[in-house]
Amino acid sequence: MLVALDGPAGAGKSTVARAVADALGFTYLDTGAMYRCVGLRAAARPDVPLDPAALDIAFDGDRVLLDGEDVSTAIRTPEAGLAASRVATDPAIRSTLVDLQRKIIADGDWVAEGRDIGTVVAPDAEIKVWLTADPEERARRREIPVAELLERDERDASRESSPMKPAADAIEVDTTGLSLDEVIARITGLVGSVR
Ligand code: C5P
Repeated sequence: MLVALDGPAGAGKSTVARAVADALGFTYLDTGAMYRCVGLRAAARPDVPLDPAALDIAFDGDRVLLDGEDVSTAIRTPEAGLAASRVATDPAIRSTLVDLQRKIIADGDWVAEGRDIGTVVAPDAEIKVWLTADPEERARRREIPVAELLERDERDASRESSPMKPAADAIEVDTTGLSLDEVIARITGLVGSVR
């Protein structure tokens, strides 16, 4: 079974996806981490054309490995987030990462979080959640100015290749003012209703 958890930056996807995966005994896939890896490489060598297929992106528990190097901390900076949102507009990079994501989630039970899981990566996902929150709250969680967050939303939503948008059959969960436990209960409840 697959729970697709999509939504804009700072909606709380990672925290919620991890917690929901724990509660259900599913495995968690952070697709944003994969775009962040590519962003990290692109930012480090802006003059070299990037071949996404040549990058080795792997997960080892909570650790993210890029060409064998532990980049779990390096990919979490606001700069890496910005670099990720830039490379994420490139269709060749997206299709390489989407292929990899489909391979990863092919077997077993997963909670996969991103921007395009329910629309592109896994349109057949049994449960699709679109997680949102007020821009002010999202910017606060990300420790970035609201204007920068809105700029990133705009870039994610307006790109030609898999723009960020809710799947037609996604259920919206607005986390503004909700506790983590309340959000988890909502989503595990949805899973319980289809099992
Ligand atoms: O979710 P996170 O902030 O780690 O994602 C970093 C960036 O990667 C996003 O701003 C977005 O541009 C891109 N991304 C994407 N599709 C995904 C996951 C992330 O375009 N499935």
